[in-house]
Amino acid sequence: MSEQIEHVKCLIIGSGPAGYTAAIYAARAALKPVMYQGLQPGGQLTITTEVENYPGYPKGTQGPEMMEDFKAQAERFGTDIRWGLATSVDFSGPIHKVVIDEKTTITADTIIIATGASAKWLGLPSEERLNGFGVSACAVCDGFFFKGQDVAIVGAGDTAAEEATYLAKLCKKVYMIVRRDEMRASKAMQTRVLNTPNIEVLYNSSTKEILGGKSVEAALIVNDKGEERKLDVTGFFVAIGHQPNTAIFKDYLTLDETGYIQTIPGSSKTNVPGVFATGDAQDHIYRQAVTAAGSGCMGALDAERYLAANGIH
Ligand code: NDP
Repeated sequence: MSEQIEHVKCLIIGSGPAGYTAAIYAARAALKPVMYQGLQPGGQLTITTEVENYPGYPKGTQGPEMMEDFKAQAERFGTDIRWGLATSVDFSGPIHKVVIDEKTTITADTIIIATGASAKWLGLPSEERLNGFGVSACAVCDGFFFKGQDVAIVGAGDTAAEEATYLAKLCKKVYMIVRRDEMRASKAMQTRVLNTPNIEVLYNSSTKEILGGKSVEAALIVNDKGEERKLDVTGFFVAIGHQPNTAIFKDYLTLDETGYIQTIPGSSKTNVPGVFATGDAQDHIYRQAVTAAGSGCMGALDAERYLAANGIH
C-alpha cells in the first residue's frame, strides 16, 4: 500500500524573520501555511545578542527573544510549525514536491523559501578538525568559553568588527586577522575596534594553520612579506561572511554566481511559478532582519495572488 502524501496550499521552508513574517501573512490570509523550521530554528538572529535597529523595540531586544515573538505571532494565526529540514525538492511540475529529512514527501501549491544563509569557513583541514574544539563561527555563542583567554578572529567586515569588540569584553586579548591593508567594516565599527585596547589588528595577514591536538593551542599566520607568526590563542573565530542555503534548489531555480536565488525585481517570484524566495536566501545586499521580514511579507502576498489567479482555494 503506498503511503499517503500530504498536500498543503502554502509550504514555508525556513524560520528566520522572512519565514515567520511570511507565515503571519499567509496564516491571516487563510492559506493554512505549514512551516519547516530547518537546522537552526529562528535563524541567524538566535545567535546574536542585542538587536537595536529593529523598529518597534525602542529599548532594543535580544535576538533569540525577538524570534520567539515572531514565532508566537505566527502560531497565533494558526501556522503549523514543524521540526524538520528540507533535504531535496522537485519543482518540475505544477505541484511542487519537497522532501523533509530525506524521508517525508510533501506536495504544495506554493512554496515560500526562507532558508537564509550560513557562515563561511576558511577551508583549512585544521579548522574543520578543531571545529567545536576552539574553532567557532559565532563569538556570541562561544565567546564565553574563552573568558580571560587570548583568542583570534578572522575577517574584516561588520560582523568581524562587532564580534571582535564583543570578545574583547570577555577575553584578555583579541587578534583580528585582516587579509588586506584595510577593513571592509563601516567607519564607526572600525573606530570601535581601533579604540579597544586589547584588540590587535593584524593587516595583510592570513591564516596558514590552526594548531592543536584535541583543542586549539595556537594559530599560525603569515603576512604579505611571507613572515610567519604564531599566535598563542585557545579560541579561533571565523567571521568572513555567509553562504546562502540554496543548494537543494539549484537544479530548478536560477541562482546568481554566489548561490543567491534570483527573483524578478520588485517581487519574490522565482523562475518557477508558485515558488517564491525571500530573506537572505535571495538578498546579498541588505541582509537585515527588517529587510528579510519585509521580503517574507512579499512572499506571502505573492503566494496568495498566485493561488487566487490559478483558482486554487
Ligand atoms: P562581509 O561579506 O561584509 O565581510 C566579510 C569579510 O571577511 C571581509 O572583510 C572579507 O575580506 C573577509 N574574508 C572573506 N573571505 C575571507 C578569507 N578566506 N580569509 C580572510 N578573510 C576573508 O560579511 P559580514 O558578515 O561582516 O557582513 C555581512 C553584511 O551584514 C554586511 O552588509 C554588513 O554590513 C552587515 N552587518 C551589519 C551589522 C550592523 O550593522 N550592526 C553587523 C554585522 C553585519 P575583504 O574585505 O578583503 O573582502
